[in-house]
Amino acid sequence: MRDDAPRSWDSRAEAATFYGFTDLPSVAQRGTVVLTHGEGPYVFDTAGKRYFDSNSGLWNMVAGFDHPKLAEAAKAQYDRFPGYHAFFGRMSDQTVMLSERLVEVSPFASGKVFYTNSGSEANDTMVKMLWFLGGAEGQPQRRKIITRWNSYHGVTAVSASMTGKPYNSVFGLPLPGFLHVGSPHYWRFGQEGETEEAFTQRLAHELEATIIKEGPDTIAGFFAEPVIGAGGVIPPSKGYFQAIQAVLKRYGIPLIADEVICGFGRTGNVWGSQTFDFVPDAIIASKAMTAGYFPMGAVVLGPELAQRLQNASEAIEEFPHGFTASGHPVGCAVSLAAIDLILNGGLLDNVRALTPRFEAGMAELAGHANIGEWRGAGLMGALEAVQDKATKTPFASNLSVSERIANTCTDHGLICRPLGQSIVLCPPFICTESHLDEMFEKLAAALRQVFAEVA
Ligand SMILES: *Cc1c(COP(=O)(O)O)cnc(C)c1O
Repeated sequence: MRDDAPRSWDSRAEAATFYGFTDLPSVAQRGTVVLTHGEGPYVFDTAGKRYFDSNSGLWNMVAGFDHPKLAEAAKAQYDRFPGYHAFFGRMSDQTVMLSERLVEVSPFASGKVFYTNSGSEANDTMVKMLWFLGGAEGQPQRRKIITRWNSYHGVTAVSASMTGKPYNSVFGLPLPGFLHVGSPHYWRFGQEGETEEAFTQRLAHELEATIIKEGPDTIAGFFAEPVIGAGGVIPPSKGYFQAIQAVLKRYGIPLIADEVICGFGRTGNVWGSQTFDFVPDAIIASKAMTAGYFPMGAVVLGPELAQRLQNASEAIEEFPHGFTASGHPVGCAVSLAAIDLILNGGLLDNVRALTPRFEAGMAELAGHANIGEWRGAGLMGALEAVQDKATKTPFASNLSVSERIANTCTDHGLICRPLGQSIVLCPPFICTESHLDEMFEKLAAALRQVFAEVA
Protein backbone atom coordinates (compact mmCIF):
# COMPACT_ATOMS: atom_id res chain seq x y z
CA MET A 1 0.00 0.00 0.00
CA ARG A 2 1.12 3.47 -0.77
CA ASP A 3 1.95 5.58 2.25
CA ASP A 4 1.27 9.23 1.49
CA ALA A 5 1.92 10.55 4.97
CA PRO A 6 4.19 13.56 4.71
CA ARG A 7 7.84 12.70 5.29
CA SER A 8 7.33 8.99 4.62
CA TRP A 9 10.42 7.37 3.13
CA ASP A 10 8.36 6.70 0.08
CA SER A 11 7.40 10.32 -0.61
CA ARG A 12 10.87 11.56 0.34
CA ALA A 13 12.40 9.17 -2.17
CA GLU A 14 10.16 10.41 -4.95
CA ALA A 15 10.44 14.09 -4.07
CA ALA A 16 14.20 14.35 -4.43
CA THR A 17 15.47 11.42 -6.48
CA PHE A 18 15.24 11.15 -10.27
CA TYR A 19 14.58 7.48 -11.02
CA GLY A 20 16.31 5.47 -13.73
CA PHE A 21 15.19 2.13 -15.19
CA THR A 22 11.99 2.32 -13.12
CA ASP A 23 8.42 1.85 -14.33
CA LEU A 24 6.90 5.13 -13.15
CA PRO A 25 3.23 3.99 -13.27
CA SER A 26 4.20 1.12 -10.94
CA VAL A 27 5.86 3.56 -8.56
CA ALA A 28 2.80 5.81 -8.67
CA GLN A 29 0.65 2.83 -7.72
CA ARG A 30 2.89 0.89 -5.37
CA GLY A 31 5.40 3.41 -4.05
CA THR A 32 9.13 2.89 -3.58
CA VAL A 33 10.70 0.12 -1.54
CA VAL A 34 13.33 1.88 0.59
CA LEU A 35 15.86 -0.56 2.00
CA THR A 36 17.97 -0.23 5.10
CA HIS A 37 20.12 -3.35 5.43
CA GLY A 38 20.60 -6.96 4.51
CA GLU A 39 21.36 -10.36 6.00
CA GLY A 40 22.76 -13.09 3.76
CA PRO A 41 20.53 -13.15 0.65
CA TYR A 42 17.79 -11.05 2.32
CA VAL A 43 17.21 -7.28 2.32
CA PHE A 44 14.97 -5.32 4.71
CA ASP A 45 12.84 -2.26 4.05
CA THR A 46 12.15 0.74 6.31
CA ALA A 47 9.06 -1.03 7.71
CA GLY A 48 11.20 -4.03 8.67
CA LYS A 49 9.77 -6.28 5.95
CA ARG A 50 12.20 -8.95 4.74
CA TYR A 51 12.70 -9.87 1.07
CA PHE A 52 14.70 -12.69 -0.47
CA ASP A 53 16.61 -10.97 -3.28
CA SER A 54 16.65 -13.55 -6.04
CA ASN A 55 18.49 -11.08 -8.28
CA SER A 56 21.53 -10.54 -6.02
CA GLY A 57 20.82 -6.80 -6.20
CA LEU A 58 21.66 -6.28 -9.87
CA TRP A 59 23.43 -9.63 -10.42
CA ASN A 60 26.37 -8.37 -8.37
CA MET A 61 25.84 -9.04 -4.63
CA VAL A 62 27.02 -12.61 -4.97
CA ALA A 63 28.32 -12.85 -1.38
CA GLY A 64 25.04 -11.59 0.06
CA PHE A 65 24.42 -8.37 1.90
CA ASP A 66 26.45 -8.65 5.09
CA HIS A 67 29.66 -10.52 4.34
CA PRO A 68 32.15 -9.65 7.10
CA LYS A 69 35.28 -10.39 5.03
CA LEU A 70 34.39 -7.79 2.41
CA ALA A 71 33.51 -5.11 4.94
CA GLU A 72 36.75 -5.89 6.80
CA ALA A 73 38.82 -5.65 3.64
CA ALA A 74 37.28 -2.25 2.88
CA LYS A 75 37.74 -0.97 6.44
CA ALA A 76 41.35 -2.14 6.62
CA GLN A 77 42.14 -0.40 3.33
CA TYR A 78 40.30 2.79 4.33
CA ASP A 79 42.44 2.84 7.45
CA ARG A 80 45.65 2.16 5.55
CA PHE A 81 45.27 4.29 2.38
CA PRO A 82 41.74 5.44 1.54
CA GLY A 83 42.10 6.59 -2.02
CA TYR A 84 44.48 7.19 -4.88
CA HIS A 85 44.53 7.34 -8.66
CA ALA A 86 46.47 5.40 -11.27
CA PHE A 87 47.80 8.26 -13.43
CA PHE A 88 51.31 9.69 -13.99
CA GLY A 89 53.15 6.49 -13.17
CA ARG A 90 51.69 6.17 -9.69
CA MET A 91 49.25 3.60 -8.31
CA SER A 92 48.45 1.85 -5.04
CA ASP A 93 50.00 -1.46 -4.04
CA GLN A 94 46.46 -2.95 -4.00
CA THR A 95 46.09 -2.01 -7.67
CA VAL A 96 49.29 -3.86 -8.54
CA MET A 97 48.14 -6.92 -6.64
CA LEU A 98 44.66 -6.97 -8.19
CA SER A 99 46.07 -6.67 -11.72
CA GLU A 100 48.32 -9.67 -11.09
CA ARG A 101 45.40 -11.62 -9.67
CA LEU A 102 43.04 -10.76 -12.53
CA VAL A 103 45.58 -11.84 -15.14
CA GLU A 104 46.21 -15.00 -13.12
CA VAL A 105 42.51 -15.94 -13.02
CA SER A 106 41.91 -14.84 -16.63
CA PRO A 107 41.91 -17.35 -19.48
CA PHE A 108 45.05 -15.61 -20.78
CA ALA A 109 48.64 -16.78 -20.23
CA SER A 110 49.56 -13.11 -19.87
CA GLY A 111 47.71 -9.85 -20.23
CA LYS A 112 47.07 -6.38 -18.83
CA VAL A 113 44.28 -4.75 -16.86
CA PHE A 114 42.75 -1.27 -17.19
CA TYR A 115 40.38 -0.10 -14.42
CA THR A 116 37.07 1.75 -14.59
CA ASN A 117 34.23 2.40 -12.13
CA SER A 118 31.53 0.45 -13.97
CA GLY A 119 30.82 -2.04 -16.69
CA SER A 120 29.59 0.69 -19.04
CA GLU A 121 32.87 2.55 -18.70
CA ALA A 122 34.82 -0.65 -19.27
CA ASN A 123 32.99 -1.26 -22.57
CA ASP A 124 33.44 2.40 -23.48
CA THR A 125 37.15 2.13 -22.67
CA MET A 126 37.53 -1.01 -24.80
CA VAL A 127 35.93 0.75 -27.76
CA LYS A 128 38.32 3.69 -27.34
CA MET A 129 41.21 1.22 -27.19
CA LEU A 130 40.11 -0.33 -30.50
CA TRP A 131 39.69 3.11 -32.11
CA PHE A 132 43.12 4.08 -30.78
CA LEU A 133 44.63 0.92 -32.29
CA GLY A 134 43.02 1.58 -35.66
CA GLY A 135 44.57 5.04 -35.78
CA ALA A 136 47.95 3.88 -34.52
CA GLU A 137 48.15 0.95 -36.93
CA GLY A 138 47.38 2.96 -40.07
CA GLN A 139 43.71 1.91 -40.28
CA PRO A 140 41.82 4.96 -39.03
CA GLN A 141 38.67 3.73 -40.86
CA ARG A 142 38.51 0.66 -38.58
CA ARG A 143 35.90 2.04 -36.17
CA LYS A 144 32.66 0.08 -36.47
CA ILE A 145 31.51 -2.04 -33.56
CA ILE A 146 29.26 -5.09 -33.94
CA THR A 147 27.04 -6.41 -31.13
CA ARG A 148 23.77 -8.40 -31.03
CA TRP A 149 20.14 -7.35 -30.84
CA ASN A 150 18.85 -7.67 -27.30
CA SER A 151 22.33 -7.52 -25.77
CA TYR A 152 23.07 -5.22 -22.85
CA HIS A 153 26.41 -3.45 -22.60
CA GLY A 154 25.61 -0.40 -20.49
CA VAL A 155 24.38 3.16 -20.61
CA THR A 156 27.16 5.58 -21.57
CA ALA A 157 26.69 7.00 -25.07
CA VAL A 158 29.00 4.34 -26.51
CA SER A 159 27.91 1.34 -24.40
CA ALA A 160 24.23 2.28 -24.92
CA SER A 161 24.97 2.33 -28.66
CA MET A 162 26.32 -1.20 -28.30
CA THR A 163 23.25 -2.31 -26.31
CA GLY A 164 20.69 -3.82 -28.68
CA LYS A 165 17.54 -2.52 -27.01
CA PRO A 166 14.85 -0.40 -28.65
CA TYR A 167 14.59 2.03 -25.70
CA ASN A 168 17.87 3.69 -26.67
CA SER A 169 16.12 5.36 -29.61
CA VAL A 170 14.73 7.92 -27.12
CA PHE A 171 18.30 9.23 -26.91
CA GLY A 172 18.80 9.21 -30.67
CA LEU A 173 21.11 6.20 -30.25
CA PRO A 174 22.88 4.14 -31.47
CA LEU A 175 25.61 6.47 -32.67
CA PRO A 176 26.64 5.90 -36.30
CA GLY A 177 28.91 2.89 -36.79
CA PHE A 178 27.32 0.67 -34.13
CA LEU A 179 25.85 -2.37 -35.86
CA HIS A 180 23.67 -5.15 -34.50
CA VAL A 181 23.31 -8.75 -35.67
CA GLY A 182 20.89 -11.48 -34.60
CA SER A 183 20.43 -12.74 -31.05
CA PRO A 184 21.32 -16.45 -30.59
CA HIS A 185 17.95 -17.31 -29.05
CA TYR A 186 16.95 -20.51 -30.81
CA TRP A 187 13.61 -21.06 -29.04
CA ARG A 188 12.38 -17.61 -30.10
CA PHE A 189 14.11 -17.01 -33.43
CA GLY A 190 14.71 -20.49 -34.83
CA GLN A 191 12.62 -20.95 -37.97
CA GLU A 192 10.06 -23.65 -38.65
CA GLY A 193 11.94 -26.93 -39.12
CA GLU A 194 15.37 -25.35 -38.56
CA THR A 195 17.74 -27.35 -36.33
CA GLU A 196 19.70 -25.55 -33.63
CA GLU A 197 22.93 -26.19 -35.55
CA ALA A 198 21.42 -24.71 -38.72
CA PHE A 199 20.21 -21.71 -36.73
CA THR A 200 23.75 -21.14 -35.44
CA GLN A 201 25.11 -21.38 -38.99
CA ARG A 202 22.52 -18.86 -40.16
CA LEU A 203 23.72 -16.39 -37.52
CA ALA A 204 27.35 -16.96 -38.49
CA HIS A 205 26.46 -16.30 -42.15
CA GLU A 206 24.55 -13.16 -41.17
CA LEU A 207 27.61 -11.91 -39.29
CA GLU A 208 29.88 -12.63 -42.24
CA ALA A 209 27.49 -10.96 -44.67
CA THR A 210 27.38 -7.88 -42.42
CA ILE A 211 31.18 -7.74 -42.25
CA ILE A 212 31.51 -8.04 -46.03
CA LYS A 213 28.78 -5.48 -46.72
CA GLU A 214 30.29 -2.93 -44.32
CA GLY A 215 33.85 -3.63 -45.44
CA PRO A 216 35.98 -5.95 -43.28
CA ASP A 217 38.62 -3.28 -42.73
CA THR A 218 36.02 -0.92 -41.20
CA ILE A 219 35.14 -3.26 -38.31
CA ALA A 220 37.02 -2.59 -35.06
CA GLY A 221 35.53 -5.29 -32.87
CA PHE A 222 32.70 -7.66 -31.98
CA PHE A 223 31.38 -7.67 -28.39
CA ALA A 224 29.21 -10.39 -26.87
CA GLU A 225 28.00 -11.50 -23.47
CA PRO A 226 28.64 -15.27 -23.10
CA VAL A 227 25.06 -15.44 -21.77
CA ILE A 228 22.98 -12.37 -22.64
CA GLY A 229 21.91 -11.12 -19.22
CA ALA A 230 19.65 -8.08 -19.13
CA GLY A 231 18.26 -9.12 -22.53
CA GLY A 232 16.49 -11.97 -20.71
CA VAL A 233 19.15 -14.58 -19.82
CA ILE A 234 19.88 -16.02 -23.25
CA PRO A 235 22.59 -18.67 -23.44
CA PRO A 236 24.14 -19.05 -26.89
CA SER A 237 22.73 -21.58 -29.30
CA LYS A 238 24.77 -24.76 -29.78
CA GLY A 239 28.22 -24.07 -31.25
CA TYR A 240 27.52 -20.32 -31.47
CA PHE A 241 30.81 -18.91 -30.24
CA GLN A 242 32.85 -21.42 -32.23
CA ALA A 243 31.00 -20.45 -35.41
CA ILE A 244 31.18 -16.71 -34.71
CA GLN A 245 34.84 -16.77 -33.73
CA ALA A 246 35.79 -18.59 -36.93
CA VAL A 247 34.19 -15.77 -38.95
CA LEU A 248 35.83 -13.03 -36.87
CA LYS A 249 39.26 -14.67 -37.16
CA ARG A 250 38.91 -14.76 -40.93
CA TYR A 251 38.70 -10.95 -40.95
CA GLY A 252 41.09 -10.19 -38.08
CA ILE A 253 38.29 -8.79 -35.88
CA PRO A 254 38.78 -9.09 -32.11
CA LEU A 255 36.13 -10.91 -30.06
CA ILE A 256 35.52 -9.12 -26.77
CA ALA A 257 33.63 -11.08 -24.10
CA ASP A 258 31.42 -8.80 -22.01
CA GLU A 259 31.68 -10.88 -18.84
CA VAL A 260 30.14 -8.22 -16.59
CA ILE A 261 27.45 -10.70 -15.45
CA CYS A 262 29.01 -14.07 -16.26
CA GLY A 263 32.45 -13.27 -14.85
CA PHE A 264 33.51 -14.55 -11.41
CA GLY A 265 31.40 -17.64 -11.21
CA ARG A 266 27.81 -17.00 -12.25
CA THR A 267 27.74 -19.76 -14.89
CA GLY A 268 29.65 -22.30 -12.79
CA ASN A 269 33.12 -21.38 -14.07
CA VAL A 270 35.14 -18.24 -13.39
CA TRP A 271 34.26 -16.97 -16.86
CA GLY A 272 31.23 -17.56 -19.06
CA SER A 273 33.63 -17.94 -21.98
CA GLN A 274 35.02 -21.05 -20.23
CA THR A 275 31.51 -22.44 -19.83
CA PHE A 276 30.93 -21.98 -23.56
CA ASP A 277 34.41 -23.07 -24.50
CA PHE A 278 36.01 -20.13 -26.28
CA VAL A 279 38.91 -17.80 -25.57
CA PRO A 280 38.16 -14.15 -26.36
CA ASP A 281 40.73 -11.46 -27.15
CA ALA A 282 39.77 -9.38 -24.12
CA ILE A 283 37.33 -9.51 -21.22
CA ILE A 284 35.07 -6.82 -19.78
CA ALA A 285 34.48 -7.31 -16.04
CA SER A 286 32.50 -5.59 -13.29
CA LYS A 287 29.52 -6.52 -11.03
CA ALA A 288 30.65 -9.65 -9.10
CA MET A 289 34.27 -8.48 -9.39
CA THR A 290 33.79 -6.71 -6.01
CA ALA A 291 30.70 -8.76 -5.05
CA GLY A 292 28.94 -5.41 -5.44
CA TYR A 293 30.68 -3.93 -2.37
CA PHE A 294 32.50 -1.24 -4.40
CA PRO A 295 31.82 0.25 -7.85
CA MET A 296 34.51 -1.05 -10.15
CA GLY A 297 34.99 -2.39 -13.65
CA ALA A 298 37.94 -3.57 -15.69
CA VAL A 299 39.16 -4.35 -19.17
CA VAL A 300 41.36 -7.45 -19.09
CA LEU A 301 43.39 -7.54 -22.29
CA GLY A 302 44.72 -10.81 -23.66
CA PRO A 303 48.38 -10.95 -24.71
CA GLU A 304 47.99 -9.83 -28.32
CA LEU A 305 45.80 -6.78 -27.68
CA ALA A 306 47.93 -5.88 -24.64
CA GLN A 307 51.07 -5.86 -26.79
CA ARG A 308 49.51 -3.93 -29.66
CA LEU A 309 48.10 -1.32 -27.28
CA GLN A 310 51.46 -1.08 -25.51
CA ASN A 311 53.18 -0.42 -28.86
CA ALA A 312 50.57 2.13 -29.90
CA SER A 313 50.88 3.94 -26.56
CA GLU A 314 54.67 3.99 -26.65
CA ALA A 315 54.53 5.55 -30.11
CA ILE A 316 52.80 8.64 -28.68
CA GLU A 317 54.24 8.19 -25.18
CA GLU A 318 50.90 7.60 -23.43
CA PHE A 319 47.39 6.19 -23.64
CA PRO A 320 45.39 9.35 -22.95
CA HIS A 321 42.48 7.84 -21.01
CA GLY A 322 41.57 7.07 -17.38
CA PHE A 323 39.11 7.85 -14.60
CA THR A 324 39.90 9.70 -11.38
CA ALA A 325 39.03 6.61 -9.38
CA SER A 326 40.52 4.02 -11.82
CA GLY A 327 42.19 1.31 -9.73
CA HIS A 328 40.90 2.77 -6.47
CA PRO A 329 42.82 1.08 -3.63
CA VAL A 330 39.68 0.31 -1.60
CA GLY A 331 37.94 -1.18 -4.65
CA CYS A 332 41.05 -3.24 -5.41
CA ALA A 333 41.27 -4.50 -1.81
CA VAL A 334 37.57 -5.41 -1.87
CA SER A 335 37.94 -7.12 -5.25
CA LEU A 336 40.93 -9.16 -4.01
CA ALA A 337 38.80 -10.29 -1.06
CA ALA A 338 35.80 -11.03 -3.29
CA ILE A 339 37.88 -13.09 -5.73
CA ASP A 340 39.36 -14.96 -2.77
CA LEU A 341 35.87 -15.73 -1.42
CA ILE A 342 34.65 -16.88 -4.81
CA LEU A 343 37.67 -19.05 -5.69
CA ASN A 344 38.98 -20.19 -2.29
CA GLY A 345 36.11 -19.49 0.08
CA GLY A 346 33.66 -21.93 -1.48
CA LEU A 347 31.38 -19.57 -3.40
CA LEU A 348 32.14 -20.96 -6.85
CA ASP A 349 31.91 -24.49 -5.46
CA ASN A 350 28.51 -23.58 -4.07
CA VAL A 351 27.31 -22.29 -7.46
CA ARG A 352 28.19 -25.69 -8.90
CA ALA A 353 26.60 -27.55 -5.99
CA LEU A 354 23.35 -25.56 -6.22
CA THR A 355 22.99 -25.64 -10.00
CA PRO A 356 21.18 -29.02 -10.19
CA ARG A 357 18.62 -27.85 -7.59
CA PHE A 358 18.24 -24.53 -9.42
CA GLU A 359 17.73 -26.29 -12.75
CA ALA A 360 15.22 -28.73 -11.24
CA GLY A 361 13.22 -25.86 -9.75
CA MET A 362 13.21 -24.00 -13.06
CA ALA A 363 12.21 -27.12 -14.99
CA GLU A 364 9.34 -27.76 -12.58
CA LEU A 365 7.98 -24.22 -13.01
CA ALA A 366 8.41 -24.53 -16.77
CA GLY A 367 5.84 -27.33 -16.64
CA HIS A 368 3.18 -24.64 -16.23
CA ALA A 369 0.92 -24.20 -19.26
CA ASN A 370 1.87 -20.50 -19.42
CA ILE A 371 5.64 -20.91 -19.25
CA GLY A 372 6.98 -21.31 -22.77
CA GLU A 373 10.63 -21.90 -21.95
CA TRP A 374 13.10 -21.87 -19.08
CA ARG A 375 16.71 -21.16 -19.95
CA GLY A 376 19.87 -20.44 -18.08
CA ALA A 377 23.40 -21.41 -17.10
CA GLY A 378 24.74 -22.01 -13.60
CA LEU A 379 22.88 -19.79 -11.15
CA MET A 380 21.19 -17.54 -13.70
CA GLY A 381 17.91 -18.33 -15.35
CA ALA A 382 14.74 -16.97 -16.89
CA LEU A 383 11.18 -18.25 -17.24
CA GLU A 384 9.35 -16.90 -20.25
CA ALA A 385 5.60 -16.43 -19.92
CA VAL A 386 3.43 -17.22 -22.95
CA GLN A 387 -0.24 -17.07 -23.56
CA ASP A 388 -0.05 -20.19 -25.73
CA LYS A 389 2.74 -22.66 -25.18
CA ALA A 390 2.41 -24.54 -28.48
CA THR A 391 2.54 -21.44 -30.68
CA LYS A 392 4.84 -19.48 -28.29
CA THR A 393 2.38 -16.59 -28.51
CA PRO A 394 3.24 -13.96 -25.90
CA PHE A 395 0.68 -12.33 -23.66
CA ALA A 396 -0.61 -8.94 -24.83
CA SER A 397 1.93 -6.42 -23.57
CA ASN A 398 -0.76 -4.26 -21.92
CA LEU A 399 -1.40 -7.15 -19.50
CA SER A 400 2.11 -6.52 -18.09
CA VAL A 401 2.25 -10.16 -17.05
CA SER A 402 5.88 -10.27 -15.92
CA GLU A 403 5.48 -7.03 -13.94
CA ARG A 404 2.40 -8.46 -12.22
CA ILE A 405 4.28 -11.63 -11.34
CA ALA A 406 7.20 -9.64 -9.95
CA ASN A 407 4.88 -7.33 -7.98
CA THR A 408 3.00 -10.30 -6.51
CA CYS A 409 6.36 -11.80 -5.51
CA THR A 410 7.40 -8.51 -3.88
CA ASP A 411 4.18 -8.53 -1.84
CA HIS A 412 5.17 -11.98 -0.59
CA GLY A 413 8.75 -11.06 0.27
CA LEU A 414 10.52 -12.19 -2.91
CA ILE A 415 12.36 -9.77 -5.17
CA CYS A 416 12.66 -10.97 -8.76
CA ARG A 417 12.96 -9.12 -12.02
CA PRO A 418 10.54 -8.84 -14.91
CA LEU A 419 12.35 -8.59 -18.26
CA GLY A 420 10.16 -8.43 -21.31
CA GLN A 421 7.80 -11.37 -20.81
CA SER A 422 10.31 -13.21 -18.64
CA ILE A 423 11.09 -13.47 -14.96
CA VAL A 424 14.80 -13.47 -14.21
CA LEU A 425 16.42 -15.24 -11.27
CA CYS A 426 20.10 -14.99 -10.29
CA PRO A 427 20.39 -15.64 -6.55
CA PRO A 428 23.53 -14.90 -4.53
CA PHE A 429 26.27 -17.55 -4.47
CA ILE A 430 26.00 -17.89 -0.67
CA CYS A 431 22.50 -19.40 -0.86
CA THR A 432 21.53 -22.77 0.55
CA GLU A 433 19.14 -25.28 -1.02
CA SER A 434 16.44 -24.17 1.41
CA HIS A 435 16.85 -20.57 0.20
CA LEU A 436 16.25 -21.82 -3.34
CA ASP A 437 13.21 -23.80 -2.16
CA GLU A 438 11.78 -20.65 -0.56
CA MET A 439 12.41 -18.72 -3.80
CA PHE A 440 10.71 -21.35 -5.98
CA GLU A 441 7.74 -21.78 -3.62
CA LYS A 442 7.02 -18.05 -3.57
CA LEU A 443 7.46 -17.73 -7.30
CA ALA A 444 5.23 -20.76 -7.97
CA ALA A 445 2.45 -19.20 -5.86
CA ALA A 446 2.77 -15.88 -7.73
CA LEU A 447 2.69 -17.64 -11.11
CA ARG A 448 -0.47 -19.56 -10.14
CA GLN A 449 -2.14 -16.37 -8.94
CA VAL A 450 -1.26 -14.18 -11.93
CA PHE A 451 -1.89 -16.83 -14.61
CA ALA A 452 -5.29 -17.53 -13.03
CA GLU A 453 -6.07 -13.83 -13.45
CA VAL A 454 -4.89 -13.41 -17.05
CA ALA A 455 -5.00 -16.79 -18.78
C1 LIG B 1 25.41 -4.35 -16.05
C2 LIG B 1 26.10 -4.59 -17.34
C3 LIG B 1 26.91 -3.63 -17.94
C4 LIG B 1 26.98 -2.22 -17.42
O1 LIG B 1 27.57 -2.16 -16.17
P1 LIG B 1 27.30 -0.85 -15.27
O2 LIG B 1 28.20 -1.09 -14.10
O3 LIG B 1 25.85 -0.84 -14.93
O4 LIG B 1 27.71 0.32 -16.07
C5 LIG B 1 27.61 -3.97 -19.07
N1 LIG B 1 27.52 -5.19 -19.61
C6 LIG B 1 26.75 -6.15 -19.06
C7 LIG B 1 26.73 -7.51 -19.67
C8 LIG B 1 26.00 -5.88 -17.92
O5 LIG B 1 25.21 -6.80 -17.42
